[in-house]
Amino acid sequence: MDLGIKGRRALVCASSKGLGRGCAEALAAEGVNLVINARSDEALQETAESIRQAHGVDVVTVCADVTTEAGQQAVLAEAADVDILVTNAGGPPPGMWTDWNREDFIAALDANMLAPIALMKALVPGMASRGWGRVVNITSMSVKNPIAMLGLSNSARAGLTGYVAGTARQVAPSGVTINNLLPGLHATDRMVVLDQLVADAENTDPETIKSKRCEEIPVGRYGTTDEFGAACAWLCSQRAGFIVGQNILLDGGTFNSTM
Ligand code: NAP
Repeated sequence: MDLGIKGRRALVCASSKGLGRGCAEALAAEGVNLVINARSDEALQETAESIRQAHGVDVVTVCADVTTEAGQQAVLAEAADVDILVTNAGGPPPGMWTDWNREDFIAALDANMLAPIALMKALVPGMASRGWGRVVNITSMSVKNPIAMLGLSNSARAGLTGYVAGTARQVAPSGVTINNLLPGLHATDRMVVLDQLVADAENTDPETIKSKRCEEIPVGRYGTTDEFGAACAWLCSQRAGFIVGQNILLDGGTFNSTM
């Protein structure tokens, strides 16, 4: 299927690795030119060059922390005219509900709620004035299926979800769609870290933790960044113009519900 976005331009935040990179790769495969971003320049440059070689698209890099105002300004300086925005950042640290104080919540809100909102506020008006745009926010399955040790993530992402629910309907008449992708467990560096943390807490090894987790996923494995990226590219496509304000789970069937 031709997704109808060849020649469009996208900003994909936090995209040198993991789910963000999966989205960048899938958009590039459709002929979308990219602005990609991460804090570490080495991995960012490697990813940019790999995407240029594989797909022949333009790739601009912005090395910045996208959760800070300065980082957002740096990214926006290169991406003011994009047609597609994919928001993403690292997830908050795990812990117990008693661990987190006000500063921890402010940091989580900055990273996983206020940064995506700031980027939407900056870029959606341009998309609307041109009559076409796509926004995909990478959130988490924790929005529907809370993960107890990720209370900061559960809280901040719920806030973003509420904001998108209303805003998506306000901007839809201008040809801009906003939707959220909710990853379940995917094989990325972050999952390696989380598996190790749980293994340490349970005095076992990360492979044991991964196997136990996979037993609870109906497909029996972690998702791949390719699968995640493909869903993102489709949501960003010309074909997906009637999908507005949705929260789409990619969790291998983990969330058990009829609808
Ligand atoms: P990952 O493998 O650790 O990759 C994170 C990417 O984002 C890297 O390229 C990293 O590069 C970049 N990044 C992190 N913080 C950044 C920041 N402040 N500014 C700019 N770039 C930043 O993580 P992932 O698994 O892809 O997760 C992505 C998001 O999805 C996270 O919010 C995570 O909580 C969420 N999520 C993941 C899963 C999963 O199973 N993987 C499940 C649910 C939700 P630098 O470190 O160089 O900045």
